[in-house]
Amino acid sequence: MKKMKYPTGQRKYGMLFTPFIIIIQIAILFLQSPVIAQDTNEGKTLMAVFAHPDDEITLGAILNKYAEEGVKVYLVVATDGRFGTNDRTEHVAGDDLAALRREEMQCSANKLGVELIHLKYQDQLRSAEGYDGHMPHIRSLMKDIYDIMERIQPDAIVTFGPDGWSNHMDHRLVGASVTQVFLSKKWEKPINLFYVGRPSNFIEDPERKILAGQNISYLTTKVSYSEKNRNTFIHALACHKSQFGEDGLERMMKRRTDEKRVVYLRKFVGPTESSDSVFN
Ligand SMILES: [Zn+2]
Repeated sequence: MKKMKYPTGQRKYGMLFTPFIIIIQIAILFLQSPVIAQDTNEGKTLMAVFAHPDDEITLGAILNKYAEEGVKVYLVVATDGRFGTNDRTEHVAGDDLAALRREEMQCSANKLGVELIHLKYQDQLRSAEGYDGHMPHIRSLMKDIYDIMERIQPDAIVTFGPDGWSNHMDHRLVGASVTQVFLSKKWEKPINLFYVGRPSNFIEDPERKILAGQNISYLTTKVSYSEKNRNTFIHALACHKSQFGEDGLERMMKRRTDEKRVVYLRKFVGPTESSDSVFN
């Protein structure tokens, strides 16, 4: 009677063959993968969203790398950088500096081969004006980010995480805004969201490790780039004359050498299953 459970024999043999078929399919995919990998990035869209002109210092070399590979790369810069004064230059805060930094940012984007979307928001996001100044400003920025995502349909987004790379409040706010917009709905096509991060072990100051570092175990996406990408990147950064002197550029070059030409990213990973407990 037990034989009658498989009247046609199909189920019995099907059960035997299924693992076989899966193994063969995996083998075919494995054999095909090097061929597919050659051109997979061409035609993709990458969107980097940062707070200030010059924030591409965090990952400009890989923006150039992907642009070279045929990826459409958009660099969204949220603010005008009007308060970006320093003791290396004579610039004063205000409209003139904002206009200069817009030109510098365009120069850098051109060198990197990326399309710049420079928004109109004020450096420091009107925080000095308190709640009523800041809130309409950040809400408008979030809606702009939403509209840009709708328009360009990115495959991947890179922005700041809670560390803000340097702990700068604008960085943290821009990263949080992008994350909220990303989470606000199920997008038409899947988007990979990443936060650019600095491994704690590359930071010496113990306080900065807490404020701006991340344990390297969280930074599981490591994107390497070529010497050529690095040189293009340094030339791009040199556009920001109002921000970096020659010594600053040299310091940055050395840091990239120490970091072995790798940009570290932390991928946003959503839940894969539901649960009824905070401990599961
Ligand atoms: Zn910045």
